[in-house]
Amino acid sequence: MSPAGPRLLLIGPPGAGKGTQAQQLSQAFGVPAISTGDIFRHNVAEQTPLGLQAKAFMDAGDNVPDSLTNDLITDRLEESDAANGFLLDGYPRTTDQVRHLDDFLAGHNTAMDAVVQLVADPDVVVSRLRKRATEQGRSDDDESVVRHRLEVYQDQTAPLIDLYTQRGLVVAIDGIGDISEVTQRIMSALASVGVTA
Ligand code: AMP
Repeated sequence: MSPAGPRLLLIGPPGAGKGTQAQQLSQAFGVPAISTGDIFRHNVAEQTPLGLQAKAFMDAGDNVPDSLTNDLITDRLEESDAANGFLLDGYPRTTDQVRHLDDFLAGHNTAMDAVVQLVADPDVVVSRLRKRATEQGRSDDDESVVRHRLEVYQDQTAPLIDLYTQRGLVVAIDGIGDISEVTQRIMSALASVGVTA
């Protein structure tokens, strides 16, 4: 067994609790949680050139173009803390991004260990996001933008679940419940496919 931690990704609709679970799993497995959404928001706040390019797409609830997103993830995955495993939250979101990630991993002689699909009912995620809009003031949590983000997820990201299922990598988890309860479900499902902390 290599001492390396796992290479995982979390996939699910906006509001399914990916960010929260990413933090829990990152601690449990000792690997960095890498959220492209967080990196974009940081760049928007700092008004970097990347942030200025990404902002309009984010405000509209659209995906930032693949070229920008793929460059960003390459840079992040090449940082030393990601050398021994990582947990991706919110990437890949399109088939082009899957291809990019496949090439990156192949180039580093490695591959994903598992894909955690967080399942949540659309009505539940819309009401969660409404709450987050009031609590965190995220400009893309406005109701009509939220609906659009869900459509973008259905169109562009949900198909990736089939793709990873064909590779035998997906564990599907009910994302509704207490934070620690959902984390436990994920940890047991991962253990059953040989991914342990
Ligand atoms: P999130 O925090 O994952 O919900 O992402 C917030 C926003 O950042 C999304 O609505 C997109 O505009 C942008 N974004 C985050 N990750 C990606 C990605 N992998 N590809 C394209 N856009 C992304």
